[in-house]
Amino acid sequence: MLCPNCKEKLIEDVIDNQNILHCSNCGGTFFQENGINRISLTSAQNLASDLKINRISNETKLCPNDNSVLTHLQSESIPAEVTLLHCATCKGIFAYPNDLVLFKKAQTAKIDYFKIWNIPLPSIKSVAVLSVLLFASIVSLTAYTFLQRQNIYSIQAQDQIKNIYITSANRYLFVSFKTVLPLQSKIIFNDSTTQQTIEKNISEKPAKLHQLTTGDINIENEIYYQIVLTDEKGSQTRTELKKLEIK
Ligand SMILES: [Zn+2]
Ligand SMILES: [Zn+2]
Repeated sequence: MLCPNCKEKLIEDVIDNQNILHCSNCGGTFFQENGINRISLTSAQNLASDLKINRISNETKLCPNDNSVLTHLQSESIPAEVTLLHCATCKGIFAYPNDLVLFKKAQTAKIDYFKIWNIPLPSIKSVAVLSVLLFASIVSLTAYTFLQRQNIYSIQAQDQIKNIYITSANRYLFVSFKTVLPLQSKIIFNDSTTQQTIEKNISEKPAKLHQLTTGDINIENEIYYQIVLTDEKGSQTRTELKKLEIK
């Protein structure tokens, strides 16, 4: 597979659990759908520093997977000065080294902003009016809403869940956790002893504090669980399967 920019051979690699194609000649990187959102800023900086020449060709850029013509991706989640090329066929994204780092810096700043200020989605506008100057250079006011709405920019469940606490009394199991944003939640238990799967709704309406009490789980057995979060647009994200450990 050849680099869309300089036509050198791309190297296949796995960075932060994402399959990528990287060009060590011009420093460009091709990501599968979602990949660019899931690598860390540090990984982006490492990829961007692996290059021999700094050149952007004038030729039409073609997808290394399927030869479709890559087009300039524009969205509120991408700063205006950043160029990301998008394949409509396989949904892959090609980024030049500098643009990759700029994009990840903007994205990290944006997500940190909402995390630090603990801003729930519906009140972004009311808060943003006060902080327009802070936002102006890197963040558009509706960017985060966009980020949530688009499945490809969905935030992973692990990033959402804070302070998960699981305990039991007699035959009852208590689960409580917080989410950064108000979300609907449910939990799926897998009893590996009986091979049973038990699904429980936790928050049927969007909430930040989630609490469940259930007597349906046999905590003597080996139990695995997974938390499923749904945002207001209906996109779902779930945690990895974890073994139930009672504190
Ligand atoms: Zn290249
Ligand atoms: Zn493609």
